[in-house]
Amino acid sequence: MNKRIVILGSASGMPQAERSSSSFVLETNSQSYLFDCGEGTSSSILKHKIDYDKISTIFITHMHPDHCIGIFSLIQMMYLTQREKSLEIFLPEESMTQVKSFLNTLYLFQEKLGFEIYFYTVKPGSFYKDPNLKIKAFPNLHLAENGKIIEKEKLLNKMESFSLEIRLKNKKIVYSGDVGGLDDLKMILPDSDILLTECMHLDIERLLALIKSSKVKSTVFTHIPPELEKEKEVITKRANELKIKGFQFAFDGLALSL
Ligand SMILES: [Zn+2]
Ligand SMILES: [Zn+2]
Repeated sequence: MNKRIVILGSASGMPQAERSSSSFVLETNSQSYLFDCGEGTSSSILKHKIDYDKISTIFITHMHPDHCIGIFSLIQMMYLTQREKSLEIFLPEESMTQVKSFLNTLYLFQEKLGFEIYFYTVKPGSFYKDPNLKIKAFPNLHLAENGKIIEKEKLLNKMESFSLEIRLKNKKIVYSGDVGGLDDLKMILPDSDILLTECMHLDIERLLALIKSSKVKSTVFTHIPPELEKEKEVITKRANELKIKGFQFAFDGLALSL
């Protein structure tokens, strides 16, 4: 099988009829990797005929529901189809205890599943390496606006949110996750082969200029809020005027060969 990325969810936090929430799968010959797992990911996996038994590892960029809530349905689907291979899940550290405990709340007991789940944390810097992939996490300010409430309510949230640089042999793939602003992306973009970026929390004109100056070779806008649907043509035209290479909007099922 050729290496490829398939977008499974291209919606933002607002659920949409024609889009699932944030997720994509990166398939290699030996195994597949899931990046974020919003609502609808399992349905999208089935709809787009993804071999989910091959998913060895899941990476979650932050704990907003449109990026993580699909994990539980996916684990249930793996359980119901008698998965045997172990599964690795990388999560922001702040969520680890609660996610493990919520699996028990959902009666998805480790003892019952029939396959092992190993949990790890997404950490700033290089945090993952195997013969196919190397992944670096860049902390971003997407959740920083919650600081006041967290302080006032004495909550344990640490506002962990990450953008990811994925190295696949000689290819550099950047996944923005959700960001706080353009500054979160400046360091990570230069010379990317493929950029999968959200386009909701960013000024589009400035984002396009940054992509251009960073010499990105192929750009996919994802995490598309409903209000942006009618702007897609205008934005695509602008991207073409600026000669942004390989520009397109994501849709669920979009496949990018690697
Ligand atoms: Zn989001
Ligand atoms: Zn978010």
